Amino acid sequence: MENAVMNDKSEKPSGTVSLRAVSKINLLLEIKDKRPDGYHEIRTLFFPLKNPSDTVSVSFDAPPGTIEIVCAHPEVPSDSRNLCWKAASKYAAAAAVAPSWRIAIEKNIPVAGGMGGGSSDAAAVLLLLNRTFNALEADALSKIALSVGADVPFFLNPVPSSAGGVGETLEPAGVPAEPPPLVMVSHLFPVSAAWAYKHASIPDRRGRPDAMPEMLRALKDKDWKKLAPLVHNDLALAVFKKFPVLEMTRALMLETGALTVELSGSGPAVFGVYESPASAAESARALRSNFGPSPAIFTPA
Ligand code: ATP
Repeated sequence: MENAVMNDKSEKPSGTVSLRAVSKINLLLEIKDKRPDGYHEIRTLFFPLKNPSDTVSVSFDAPPGTIEIVCAHPEVPSDSRNLCWKAASKYAAAAAVAPSWRIAIEKNIPVAGGMGGGSSDAAAVLLLLNRTFNALEADALSKIALSVGADVPFFLNPVPSSAGGVGETLEPAGVPAEPPPLVMVSHLFPVSAAWAYKHASIPDRRGRPDAMPEMLRALKDKDWKKLAPLVHNDLALAVFKKFPVLEMTRALMLETGALTVELSGSGPAVFGVYESPASAAESARALRSNFGPSPAIFTPA
């Protein structure tokens, strides 16, 4: 996808560089603690998905000193509120490079869907800029990523990864990147992540076995029946309660073959895990015929 002319830092680059920005689901999302500063300590297992994904391109012909954002999606801001703008401006400051960057986002990941679209776009910008200017070490790039958003560091190297704290610990999970047979259903209303965290109750997990090692084993073994009951998101209870259409969606997915259905991140995207790609495809067909063109329905695997 890249066709830029890479130059050394003193020269002005030309051309356009592009990258696919993948989406994610959280197969596990446990809230550990609410901190006094309002942040939540979590433990999560991020799983990257190639479908849906955005395409992010940077060209180097914007007016000197500016960062422009171009995105046709009506709900994506094209000013300094865009996470790509934030990432680019932090990169420019840290790398001491004067920007003249036009960032184009081809949006396919549902916006505010809980699939990490904005975070992934921001990480793509950081990767593209650093490939072009080669000014920052991996650690410095990760720090910028975390300062843009808790999910951004994961997208710098989007392999299945466990994460903890408020996103500051991130480790490749060492499992195949091929997702289980899935269907994603993303209704078109947004859910505020802040609302979801505020209304989530932290379950008492004392004395209960840790789901993470079992989950990694099931992913390594591609044992989807073993994986399904381990999939869990602490944000789900509050979000399903607030939006009954999600409960209806879950029921329909379970009726049409899903082994389990869970919320992705803070939603409203939900995903079902199936026994086989064929059963996922069949369920997706049933869901499409029931719901019509909205919501967005994906079969990532
Ligand atoms: P996460 O799963 O990380 O919580 P999300 O998928 O729920 O994120 P995003 O699609 O990243 O949510 O968007 C959240 C909000 O951020 C949107 O309401 C949108 O206005 C704003 N936003 C800023 N930059 C972007 C971007 N590049 N793409 C999408 N939304 C963006």
